[in-house]
Amino acid sequence: MLFLTCLHCGLRSVEEFRYAEIPTVPETMTDPQAIDLDRGFFRTNREGEVTERWFHEFGCRRWITVRRDTRSDSILK
Ligand SMILES: [Zn+2]
Repeated sequence: MLFLTCLHCGLRSVEEFRYAEIPTVPETMTDPQAIDLDRGFFRTNREGEVTERWFHEFGCRRWITVRRDTRSDSILK
């Protein structure tokens, strides 16, 4: 099971959090409708180190930023 450290609540199960992707849009994409479509349906599942936002929904209800290696599912410092 994956655990995340909330700055306010300490080490908690990932099940208490809701994931939110930090939106990134390719520079070549300028059409606003295409950008919305890309954000909604074509999420990338990048391999390696990623920066993510997690909402502590069943805790303090604050956002935290997490660096995670998707290859090992380990949290980076
Ligand atoms: Zn919290």
